[in-house]
Amino acid sequence: MQKIGNRRLSIVQRLGLGVSFMLLPVLGLAVVSFVSFESAIATLEGNQDRMLEEQFPLVQLEQLLLEALDLLEGFQKFGVLPQQQARWIQLHQEIEQTFENLLNAPSQLHEKHRFVLEIQQSWQQAQANSSWIVKQSVHADVPDPSLADQVMVKQQVEQAIRASRRLDRLLTSFRNDDNLTQARLMKYRVRLLVAGILTLALFMAVISGLILARSILKPLKQLQYGVAKFGDGELSHRIYLNTHDELDLLAQTVNWMAENLEQNQQMLTELATMDELTKVYNRREFNRRLALELARSQREGHSVSLMMIDIDHFKKLNDTYGHQAGDEALRQVSHIIKTEVRPSDQPARYGGEEFAVILPYASRDEVYVVAERLRQHIAAHDVQIHQGLVLKVTASLGCATFPLDAQSADRLTAEADRSLYEAKDNGRNQVCQASVPLPQSRVG
Ligand code: GH3
Ligand code: MG
Ligand code: MG
Repeated sequence: MQKIGNRRLSIVQRLGLGVSFMLLPVLGLAVVSFVSFESAIATLEGNQDRMLEEQFPLVQLEQLLLEALDLLEGFQKFGVLPQQQARWIQLHQEIEQTFENLLNAPSQLHEKHRFVLEIQQSWQQAQANSSWIVKQSVHADVPDPSLADQVMVKQQVEQAIRASRRLDRLLTSFRNDDNLTQARLMKYRVRLLVAGILTLALFMAVISGLILARSILKPLKQLQYGVAKFGDGELSHRIYLNTHDELDLLAQTVNWMAENLEQNQQMLTELATMDELTKVYNRREFNRRLALELARSQREGHSVSLMMIDIDHFKKLNDTYGHQAGDEALRQVSHIIKTEVRPSDQPARYGGEEFAVILPYASRDEVYVVAERLRQHIAAHDVQIHQGLVLKVTASLGCATFPLDAQSADRLTAEADRSLYEAKDNGRNQVCQASVPLPQSRVG
């Protein structure tokens, strides 16, 4: 859901899509219910129309038979009058036509045909027994029918009426049954539809919910993890969500904030640990690093050497060429120190024109070699102050090695410092090293 084709979706778009997805089955339910109700009502209406269509000739027949009965009663009371006789003959044709219509009309009620034949049979019997009505006027000498004959014809017509009413009721109840069946079928279908669509809606809601939650919770977790890292001080950590949504924007803002904090922290660290003029560690950082290196050396059992470097007659240089020339000389000597020692060695400005270098793993012999090489480089270097002014400086160096010469940071510094002053006393531009104390038994 997070990605459609090559297009990434924002959280708002994803939420909209999710809700629409959840609403889709409900909408479907509404449409399908509407359509199925419409079709059910159309079926019922169709049934109703068919019933009217099918029952109309039957009602017509019943009316014609009732009229025949009326005529018969008239004949019985007043004799066969010409007008009624003509109507009887016409009625006979209309009734036969109606029978024909009834027998030809298709019907779903199988017994209908049999019933119509039964009505027709009663009518035809009545017809056969009522030939005196038609003959009456044609043959004036025809004797009057007996009362029993007249009653019999009436009974046969009444029988036909009863049979046609029975068929009428049968047709009505058949249609009602059919309608009931249709209604039950519709009820069953609607139930099935509602259950199916509700299950589908539930399924879709769960799926949409899960996808939505996952698409939001996963990047949120990454964000939380990243922010926790920043909280732990890991400002170099970056959060990459790549979701191209609101959370991604938040992650980018947090990254930008971390980058700023990291830069500020770097600046502060530099300010707190580096010497501004010479770009080597300051005295505080030197002390911290020396303590760390000595602790590591104690753990791992290797040696750490310390070298103190003091520029000779620096006061004179300052006094002669000015403070700025002194600063430049300090910068260039510090540069020589930085480039001449190994990257793992840690040079620092110990004070005014005095430098210190921590050399982890360096033995007494190794530190002496480095110190001597450094002394030579400083002495050989042309300190270019400005065009036309090139100066020469020398430095005196004192070295001491832990744990051979001293067993603590303070002692090690003091030993290196003492050796440095020994080099000064011996005439400067030289390296002096703390001497290994003699074993107690051989002293004195
Ligand atoms: P020595 O050979 O015995 O070491 O003599 P020195 O003159 O080098 O030593 P001293 O301690 O007498 O003088 C150190 C001078 O370094 C004094 C001070 O003005 C100068 N100095 C200290 N810090 C700075 C600095 O940051 N810039 C400059 N230009 N000079 C500094
Ligand atoms: Mg000096
Ligand atoms: Mg000094």
